[in-house]
Amino acid sequence: MTQTNATSPILRTMNEIDLMIRARYPVLYLLTHEEARLEHLLLELAGRQGKQLFSWTATRGLEPVRELREPRRMGGGEATDPVDALNHILEKDVSALFLLRDFHPFLEDPHVARLLRDVAHELKNTYKNILLVSPRLVMPPELEKDITLLDIPLPDAAELTDLFKSVCRALYKKDKNSVALSNRDANAIVRAAQGLTLTEAENAFAKAAVTGGRLDHEDVDLVLNEKKQIIRKSGILEFYEPDATLGDVGGLSELKRWLGVRGKAFSPQAACFGLPAPKGVLLLGAPGCGKSLTAKSVAQFWELPLLRLDLGRIFSGLVGSSEQNMRQALKVAEGVAPAVLWIDEIEKGLAGNASGSSDGGTASRVFGTLLTWMQEKTANVFVVATANRIDILPPELLRRGRFDEIFFVDLPRTESREEIFRIHLEKRGRQAETFDLPAAVQATDGFSGAEIEHVVLEGLFAAFDADRELATGDLLDAAAKTVPLSVTSAEDLRRSREWAARRARMAESSTETRGVSGRAARIETDRAE
Ligand code: ATP
Repeated sequence: MTQTNATSPILRTMNEIDLMIRARYPVLYLLTHEEARLEHLLLELAGRQGKQLFSWTATRGLEPVRELREPRRMGGGEATDPVDALNHILEKDVSALFLLRDFHPFLEDPHVARLLRDVAHELKNTYKNILLVSPRLVMPPELEKDITLLDIPLPDAAELTDLFKSVCRALYKKDKNSVALSNRDANAIVRAAQGLTLTEAENAFAKAAVTGGRLDHEDVDLVLNEKKQIIRKSGILEFYEPDATLGDVGGLSELKRWLGVRGKAFSPQAACFGLPAPKGVLLLGAPGCGKSLTAKSVAQFWELPLLRLDLGRIFSGLVGSSEQNMRQALKVAEGVAPAVLWIDEIEKGLAGNASGSSDGGTASRVFGTLLTWMQEKTANVFVVATANRIDILPPELLRRGRFDEIFFVDLPRTESREEIFRIHLEKRGRQAETFDLPAAVQATDGFSGAEIEHVVLEGLFAAFDADRELATGDLLDAAAKTVPLSVTSAEDLRRSREWAARRARMAESSTETRGVSGRAARIETDRAE
């Protein structure tokens, strides 16, 4: 049997299924790609409850499952027709679980859907339960109240370790030189496979064993790359290579301090101390001020994998499959845990919600799925969500319990602008000390980090064009030619600040000095006059 521990997500889910079956929930919808793994677990569960397990597919009909890996024939069972299958279930006088595989297409047939409702009603007074097992979610609204939906989590480290050990044993039996791994490498390979299904992991291990003729430490990257590709195929989740560190982020001292303290809460010692695992942080504020940069660098800082969830893509495509995409993405994030999940421009999901581009009901359900998950998640997935448009954020997103903290990222203050100049000059191989930074800092009052970076780049272009080294004058010229967003969007910025003053924590310590953008302030005064 698979060695899972008490906190294992799959064990928790199986316990939940166990309870629901005992409580006579008539129909459960188990969302998973992993039929074989689930069948294995359900056979154990049925045994514990003294029940029989039946399996149904449209090709083989209804047949008892007695042993795992029993050879299966086409058309071996009875009732390949879905209506016949449901009627058989109704008539059978047994105490049993009926595993209906890939039943989802038939749920779109009103006749089958109605029959399933009738059967569900009847089963409440029996010791029979229907378990719909499918990789796709098809839930006609009329069935929503009769069917309980459960996501089957991906295998955790313990399950993957069992699998990896069995792969290694099989290889070693054939050839003693085919496995050359330290314990550390083996753990790293298993860790690299987290987020995959058992079959995907098995394939990745097999590919790694074939490549190079043996399993060794080089296969860690191979399995990791395999995972990246598989995750990317989902289209909305990306395994992001963190390319920034907190040292690349200028300013935001309060936020950085907070991240430093929160990061410690991932440790087992912190859990023993009674600290909850960090949930996440919402970064709001002006564009180009380092929100995304912080999201990328926090994963590096905590040495955790970084996953990027593209909400825009969820809502831009086929909304019909969005809910399932979202569930799948969250499942993968949990599978990879501990991990950082970066949701860039979370308001895009809300825009999809509000716009007529999609079925509003489905879109809000998808967003609701995300919110509920954020509220209830137990896996160590730290969410870093960023948003520019504060005005469209719904109160339910900002409610306590979703994020540990909400930070407002404002335009950089004087000291931070200097730090940002240093970072970008040094990134381009220049020594910051050779420039009159106070002058550059003064010339960029009201500029965002991205605009300061732009000033450095513009300065470099000008110097290169004039065939000389970059000088402070180039930076000042570039700054003078740049109209910052704090000028063009002064009103938005003012509103955001007002909003944030009451609801968010400032990402930058208020003891640092930030001159209100001279130009922005002037425009606001002009308007007032
Ligand atoms: P947006 O929502 O428009 O993407 P953002 O706040 O997420 O805004 P970033 O994408 O993090 O902004 O910033 C864009 C680029 O600007 C960064 O990759 C970085 O090069 C530079 N930058 C912005 N803020 C800072 C900062 N505080 N320190 C250093 N560089 C910064």
